[in-house]
Amino acid sequence: MSTIKAGSCLCGHVRYEIDMAGSRTGNCHCRDCQKNGGGPFMTFTTPKPGKFKWIVEPEGRAQASDFAMRRFCTHCGTPMTWEHLSKDDMAVSTGTLDDPSGVEIIYEIYTKSRWPVIPPMPGVDQFRESNGWE
Ligand SMILES: [Zn+2]
Ligand SMILES: [Zn+2]
Repeated sequence: MSTIKAGSCLCGHVRYEIDMAGSRTGNCHCRDCQKNGGGPFMTFTTPKPGKFKWIVEPEGRAQASDFAMRRFCTHCGTPMTWEHLSKDDMAVSTGTLDDPSGVEIIYEIYTKSRWPVIPPMPGVDQFRESNGWE
C-alpha cells in the first residue's frame, strides 16, 4: 500500500505530497503554535528528508523565530509548514492532509504551556519543551 498522502490548504490553492513512511507526528503546545493555530495546540508531521514536495507552494512566509519560518496560504491563511532556515528540518501541519486516517501521534512537546483542560494523550511521550526534533 502506498504511504504517500496528499495535502492542501483550506481553499485548495496550496497542495503537496508527503511520504508518510518513517515520518513522526506530534502535538506542539508552545505559545507560538497556540497563537498561530488559534487553538490549544498544533499537530505537525516531520517527514524523512526528501519525502515532502510542494505541488503548489504557499506564498506566505512569516519569521517564526531566530532560526525558523512558518509558511501559510495567502489566499485562505491556512498554516502549512514550520521550516528551519538553515538545515533540512521541516514539519507540515498534519490537519492539512486530505485524508488523515491512520496518522499516529507519538509525542507531545512544550507541555509546559499545555492548557489545563487538555490532558496528556495516554501512552504518548511527553516533553516539557523540545524533544530535540522540532
Ligand atoms: Zn488556501
Ligand atoms: Zn509549537
